[in-house]
Amino acid sequence: MILGRERKPLGVEPTRRDEERMIMKVIFHEAFYQVYSSDPAAAEGRMEAVVQVVEPVVEFVQAEPASSVDISAVHPEHRIEWVKRQGVYEIAALAAGGAIGAAQLGLEEPCFGLIRPPGHHASADSGWGFCYFNNMAIALEKLKRDGKIKKAYVLDIDLHFGDGTVNILKNSGYATVHNVASHDREAYLEEVREEMARCQADIIGISAGFDNHEDDWGGTLCTDDYREIGSLVRTAAERNGGGCFAILEGGYNHEVLGRNVMALIEGLSEVSTWQERG
Ligand SMILES: [Zn+2]
Repeated sequence: MILGRERKPLGVEPTRRDEERMIMKVIFHEAFYQVYSSDPAAAEGRMEAVVQVVEPVVEFVQAEPASSVDISAVHPEHRIEWVKRQGVYEIAALAAGGAIGAAQLGLEEPCFGLIRPPGHHASADSGWGFCYFNNMAIALEKLKRDGKIKKAYVLDIDLHFGDGTVNILKNSGYATVHNVASHDREAYLEEVREEMARCQADIIGISAGFDNHEDDWGGTLCTDDYREIGSLVRTAAERNGGGCFAILEGGYNHEVLGRNVMALIEGLSEVSTWQERG
């Protein structure tokens, strides 16, 4: 089901004029408009809220579903069968594939995966918090298996602790997962600055939940803060000679979600001058 206003179909070649104002590729698929469950991550209008804001300045790249091999690298068969029984396998595999696409492209240029269902509460053999497959872990595992990276770093900026990603990757030997823990805005940003100052990895993946925004559940961050976070990550990736990408996790206030995603995209598209400003 496709909701919302008429839009240019995905896959249409951008004109030269379009290309001049496009700042980033966004991995997406119209199937993500589906209301696949009754949880807030699957709510009607959530994807539309983001697409409407970012559409004028991004180039959409069609997400492809993750293969069963890619999913099985992270999740055991009984978990995959359980997801199938919920009737959400196809959309969950497409989200995981969107994350893989974002991570692969992220090695070349910063990019954003506008995907759902989210994944950071999905452990290998269980899941909660609107998550089925762990999109981030599936994406990083794929890069690792393909020999594209030696070290990965996950910055989880969602309001909620990404327990699934930690459970899957903590003993992986190649990935560091950091959930930003500060609840005060300034301390939160300082924590991100410090992490990015010492982060060394071939790829930095942002588990980009926007539920910490002042008008969302967490009530902590301003829209501009997502711009700074994006820029700090981009700067660290450039310093490391590596790549960076972000994938959508939480964020439930449709009034502000689009602006916040846009701010992160803008930040990722530029190298930070924030540190110099102190
Ligand atoms: Zn969350």
